[in-house]
Amino acid sequence: APVLAVVGRPNVGKSTLVNRLLGRREAVVQDIPGVTRDRIAYDALWNGRRFTLVDTGGWEPDAKGLQASVAAQAEMAMQTADAVLLVVDASVGATTTDEAVARVLRRGDVPVMLCATKVDDDRLTSDIAALWRLGLGEPYPVSGLHGRGSGDLLDAILEILPESPRDLGLGTAGGPRRVALVGKPNVGKSSLLNRVSGEVRSVVHDVAGTTVDPVDSLVELDGEVWRFVDTAGLRKRVNTASGMEYYASLRTKAAIEAAEVAVVLIDAGEPIAEQDQRVITMVEEAGRALVLVFNKWDLVDEDRRLAMKRELERDLVRVRWAERVNISALTGRSVAKIAPALRTALASWDRRVPTGRLNGWLAEVVNATPPPVRSGKQPKILFATQAATRPPTFVLFTSGFLEAGYRRFLERRLREEFGFTGSPIRMSIRVRE
Ligand code: GDP
Repeated sequence: APVLAVVGRPNVGKSTLVNRLLGRREAVVQDIPGVTRDRIAYDALWNGRRFTLVDTGGWEPDAKGLQASVAAQAEMAMQTADAVLLVVDASVGATTTDEAVARVLRRGDVPVMLCATKVDDDRLTSDIAALWRLGLGEPYPVSGLHGRGSGDLLDAILEILPESPRDLGLGTAGGPRRVALVGKPNVGKSSLLNRVSGEVRSVVHDVAGTTVDPVDSLVELDGEVWRFVDTAGLRKRVNTASGMEYYASLRTKAAIEAAEVAVVLIDAGEPIAEQDQRVITMVEEAGRALVLVFNKWDLVDEDRRLAMKRELERDLVRVRWAERVNISALTGRSVAKIAPALRTALASWDRRVPTGRLNGWLAEVVNATPPPVRSGKQPKILFATQAATRPPTFVLFTSGFLEAGYRRFLERRLREEFGFTGSPIRMSIRVRE
């Protein structure tokens, strides 16, 4: 579903408004200025349309002051959302902070709407008119408390919100392939990027027809140029305090979606963490190719390495199909080996199995191991086709229901036969009556 980010200074009445928009009391309303709530994303439904509502939480002044932190969050909102709703307190009017954030929002190419809260009576209409000068069009007056205006606001939001989340630039056109470098904090993402970015400048000019988005980095690995997407935040070391954690996860998601293949960096000296698993799941769900890169091997004693590898693998059986590389970003050891793994993963991700071969293989498998009988009937598998690549997606037409266990069996055999190392695969069943 498309994403609407709600941004605004602390205490302008965002949470009350969000509650109104959701029609239920779920967002925690905090009256304490500067209180930061992170991770607040809701599934919203209006007039039969679904969207995700992200409440950015209160803004806390960081080292650079309130203005800078507000601008940074607005920037993040624009990078990750399909539309932004700026909330301003009508009883206070536009502050310099509101103006700063409006400036940031005006520069972006994401649709923005302005709404004025705390409009609890008509006296404030002149104050609302003053908000035009924020340059974001008509200010929508709402009273979070009474609910006045929120229906109109929702109607207007749906008009600017695209039907589906924006395509974050996943292109099929040539040029360097897009890589997301992701992983939990401190696994060495910046270190790895810095290490491989060394030679970039010299090769940039040789890549014909590439315009590099400033948030991406061109990187040479093993004689080939790759586009590491959305790396600006890595270079700048995004402040992970004060509610930025949720944004770190939105960022990770956005990077994965913009990429064709994800390098999930994992600390080889530590057990697999929940956060590692979450990032891997994001890659799987986004349907991107996957390379697991274990970093910091220089910290692991030689005689512990085998045990360590076993321990890591125990928690990664579910992505047995992913490519693996062991490196040290610090020493540079084996870093070039990431490239062949990326190539293998992408080749699988792009791969198409001809329908004839697919059905020939399927007939053999089904003959040898027919699907289990259900309610006295033997389901027949009539036909299979690879409906899509990136990731490989298969559709099976059957005459009856196939049990989950049998579907997993088919998926396993499919991988055994055709490979697909490094890529997730999808399989859907269409039952023909
Ligand atoms: P990020 O949060 O994922 O970007 O992680 P950083 O690149 O900032 O690295 C976190 C810390 O781990 C830093 O102190 C790095 O110097 C250190 N580090 C990164 N890679 C390695 C490695 O291969 N070996 C060792 N010993 N330390 C590393």
